[in-house]
Amino acid sequence: MQFLSTRGMAPPTSFSDVLLAGLAPDGGLYLPQSWPQVTASFKGMRYQDAAFHILSEFTRGSFSDAELHAAIDAAYAGFDAPAIAPLTEIGEDRYLLELFHGPTLAFKDIALQVLGQLFSRALTKRGGRATIVAATSGDTGSAAIAALGGLPNIEVFVMHPKGRVSDVQRLQMTTSAHANVHNIALNGSFDDAQSIVKALFADKEFAGEISLTAVNSINFARIAAQCVYYFTATAALGKPVTFVVPTGNFGDIFAGEAAARMGLDVARLVIATNANDIMARALNEGVYASGASHATLSPSMDIQVASNFERALFEAAGRDADWTSAAMSDFARTRKLELPATVLAELRARYSAFASDDDETRAAIKAVYKLTGRIIDPHTAVGVAAAMKMGSRNQGPLSPVVILSTAHPAKFPQAVTEAIGVAPPEPERLSGLKNLPERLEILDNDPVLIKRFISSRLVP
Ligand SMILES: *Cc1c(COP(=O)(O)O)cnc(C)c1O
Repeated sequence: MQFLSTRGMAPPTSFSDVLLAGLAPDGGLYLPQSWPQVTASFKGMRYQDAAFHILSEFTRGSFSDAELHAAIDAAYAGFDAPAIAPLTEIGEDRYLLELFHGPTLAFKDIALQVLGQLFSRALTKRGGRATIVAATSGDTGSAAIAALGGLPNIEVFVMHPKGRVSDVQRLQMTTSAHANVHNIALNGSFDDAQSIVKALFADKEFAGEISLTAVNSINFARIAAQCVYYFTATAALGKPVTFVVPTGNFGDIFAGEAAARMGLDVARLVIATNANDIMARALNEGVYASGASHATLSPSMDIQVASNFERALFEAAGRDADWTSAAMSDFARTRKLELPATVLAELRARYSAFASDDDETRAAIKAVYKLTGRIIDPHTAVGVAAAMKMGSRNQGPLSPVVILSTAHPAKFPQAVTEAIGVAPPEPERLSGLKNLPERLEILDNDPVLIKRFISSRLVP
């Protein structure tokens, strides 16, 4: 399987190269040259075997079957649910897809654990080292650290917006004891952190020198690993599903589009955003425009640029790389992109979008608690709020609704307590974090400072 860039100026590339590079050299995002068709039935199959089936379509030529099996088994060995991504019913034909059973209690573990395993295998085969720099709105950072901490030949730098992540999220990152883990608390927003990562990549000399790599959701390997639960959830319910996806950077929901393009019958993909509603506005008003970022109860979705949307735009434009490239440079310049009618129609045929504010988020936590006794986290609640809006606007489809439950409530105890007056029980994985020493560097929002810091931490 070969991969191409959404901007059309990068040579076709293997899965290992895509994995190790993250971003394409022309600034675009990688996608498979053509979408493999997956026709197998996954009903009753182990999650790991479904994952092998789907991932092998992409990794063929880069990893042997034995290597991929070993990577997947190691990735999911530490999950605390045997089903890996279990479904639970919360109402008639309404389900939560629990994606938070990994080491850091958020859905990012599902892809990053696989990515870490593949990464170290690819590096061992190729030789050399890699420097990973990740911008995080809270969950990617800890998941990357959990997946890559302690692996040989890899240095991990994680930048989070200072004061914009929950205490649990910060502690999960800064208490890592691994010497190859370096935390930066940036005086800025998540979007600032993401811009710095882009600037580091754009500095080709520096990027080459340190073998810079991204594990943010722009890395296609993550999308590939995230397709899997769309397939397994559909198989378990036995009919096409409407998936409601709490959305920030558009990676998780694009994995749903990827699954559909691989042949999965998906009823609809519903984008659920918080007050950072760039994606809801793009879909509903036809203008993709970033504004100021708001701090909300669901910090992992506090994003004003949805990087993976480029992939959906490229597909909606019939894979027109010239248009995508021009559109993305326009957007980079003006922070605004008017979507052409044909592109918008394509997107609307697949996606709906609903934004909810903090009050609606709290109300959704409360509603689910009252109805079922289950405590959900504020990101999941944004999904539930969207599902409620979809129902009340009489857009309820004749299919089961599955809300992706992207984090464990114990990661966000404050928001939960505000909503229902009860704190979520603390799972074993979190108790004890507060007593560990923290390691982090507070730095200003300046790519030059960040570069200097990275260089100073790399052993030559
Ligand atoms: C990252 C994250 C999201 C958003 O996922 P994207 O792929 O960025 O759209 C939603 N919920 C939680 C808990 C997350 O960590």
